[in-house]
Amino acid sequence: MTFENTKEFAQQLDSQDKLNKYRDEFIFPKVNGEKVIYFTGNSLGLQPKRTKAYVDEVMDDWANLAVEGHFYAEKPWWDYHERFAKPLSKIVGALPSEVTVMNTLTVNLHLLMVSFYRPTKSRYKIICEEKAFPSDQYMFQSQVHFHGYKTEDAIVEIKRREGEHNIRLEDVLAKIAEVGDELALVLIGGVNYYTGQVFDMKTITAAGHDAGAIVGWDLAHAAGNIKLELHDWNADFAAWCSYKYMNSGPGNASGCFVHEKHHNNPDLPRFAGWWGHNKERRFKMEPTFDPVQGADGWQISNLPILSLAPYLASVEMFEEIGMDALIEKRDRITAYLEFILQEIDKEVDSTFEIITPADPSERGCQLSVLLHGEGRSLFDYLMENGVITDWREPNVIRLAPVPLYCSFEDMYDFGQILKAGILR
Ligand SMILES: *Cc1c(COP(=O)(O)O)cnc(C)c1O
Repeated sequence: MTFENTKEFAQQLDSQDKLNKYRDEFIFPKVNGEKVIYFTGNSLGLQPKRTKAYVDEVMDDWANLAVEGHFYAEKPWWDYHERFAKPLSKIVGALPSEVTVMNTLTVNLHLLMVSFYRPTKSRYKIICEEKAFPSDQYMFQSQVHFHGYKTEDAIVEIKRREGEHNIRLEDVLAKIAEVGDELALVLIGGVNYYTGQVFDMKTITAAGHDAGAIVGWDLAHAAGNIKLELHDWNADFAAWCSYKYMNSGPGNASGCFVHEKHHNNPDLPRFAGWWGHNKERRFKMEPTFDPVQGADGWQISNLPILSLAPYLASVEMFEEIGMDALIEKRDRITAYLEFILQEIDKEVDSTFEIITPADPSERGCQLSVLLHGEGRSLFDYLMENGVITDWREPNVIRLAPVPLYCSFEDMYDFGQILKAGILR
């Protein structure tokens, strides 16, 4: 399709967009009395209007039933989390028994590493991507130290080539082959938080397995954004947060995936708690741990229902729409944003550089833009004019045109504000 950089054309795309109506289901902050253009759904998704009712329901059940709410609430709390299995399994491409919700992302990755990072004298190295999200870096360092290894020795980063912004698949595969028999674990962000690059998880997972390693994925920027087929890709484990593309609210519960092939392995160590214990016998208060079969068996504590309520509102919305429709719009709106950026770049004779891969199969809902020659004042101008984006030193803005609530008209308007900001 040939795009045009006009308001009418953008409005026409909106009128053809089946998801456009969902925009009204979200609450937008306002700047100068107008809804903002929200590009930071990759950091904290907007609040769906329907969420409040889910939270109020729990508050009311608590008020009216108190402890009895565990069993007699409309959605009883003791198995509240089971409502996630089906919708979440579709979002990440898993069997319902392979997904669960609990804790928060970094905590879950640590817990999953208890089971899946089990270094031996000869096989102890972890492969991750260069400049991984800081929390992941601290996690890797503390994990290898915990097991008595040194960072420099045990953590192997896959580097970008000189002058390139993205990591090449061939370099990932070469590194896996090189570390070979010493490789215990490959754990990479499925979508890079900085560049928006999507990794070929299927190929990398297979290569990690060929080397005899375990392969896990941090899906913080992938869940609810890209098509995932964790079961078929044979990933060993994965975890994601729910507050980015999944709009569950600040710091909210994380989701986990544990492949079915690990469900019945009694040798797999894990840190246990009563919520992971045999469901039928949980309240018999038995002394010996008998894990639930499936990802739920990795749960530890009884769940924070007030945190799950907004997440449930979100997964039900995803269930209604389906990932295929979301991805279709995501590709179109991201391509339109790319087009707008290129047009404005020509008009102002600036030199932006989109560092996110141009190939739609290697990106999801994010364009990271290097603004050569433009400083922080441009970012401030955007924010003051109702464009919510984020700034990464030295001069990168990350733009996520989230298909659930961003419009094509937003992309056009953004282009005009950007242009005015550069020419001011
Ligand atoms: C957002 C993000 C996190 C955040 O971790 P929390 O434990 O939820 O604070 C971790 N890793 C990556 C790659 C992220 O993008």
